[in-house]
Amino acid sequence: MDCPVCHKKNIESYVHNCPECETDLLQFSIFDMAAEDYLAMTKRSSILEGKVVELEQKRKRDRNNYVGKIYRNLFFLSLLGLIYFLFFKKPPQPEIVPDQATIENLKKQHETQTAQLKKDLEDAKNQIEGIKAQTNVKSIQYVIQKDDILWQLGELFYNNRLAAYQIAKDNDIPEEKFRLLPVGDTITLNFRCHE
Ligand SMILES: [Zn+2]
Repeated sequence: MDCPVCHKKNIESYVHNCPECETDLLQFSIFDMAAEDYLAMTKRSSILEGKVVELEQKRKRDRNNYVGKIYRNLFFLSLLGLIYFLFFKKPPQPEIVPDQATIENLKKQHETQTAQLKKDLEDAKNQIEGIKAQTNVKSIQYVIQKDDILWQLGELFYNNRLAAYQIAKDNDIPEEKFRLLPVGDTITLNFRCHE
């Protein structure tokens, strides 16, 4: 090493004191080692600080990303809410409270409606009876001739063979007598028509 005081060059490392100025070289070499250590430590600490800064920046980036994501999601959620509100929301339904008073009320309402329906039905019946009463039945008497058959009489008077059944009903004629009508008997033929 060189003497730091008198700058004498190339002194051997085992020499403790400068041959020129008697300076304690050992103390200086210890000081140099300490300085080197200090430099190394400073360097390590700078590296660590750099890492801390890097981590801090990464944390900030992550936080910003996270906040951005939350805002985006909130935006889409409110958009969905708006769409739902505008297009799908139905007016609020009144809440049904099943208390005794309401039940009584509903019962009363039901009874009233039933009574009204019964009354309407009665009115309709009366109307039908009225129409029936207005129906005019005109009758003629007919004396049964030889070879008369009830179906032929239906055809003759009503243009309908099946009218035989109505004639039979009006005159109490059993079906087995349709071909064996008592000659000379009088039967009633009813013609129903509206006035
Ligand atoms: Zn010296």
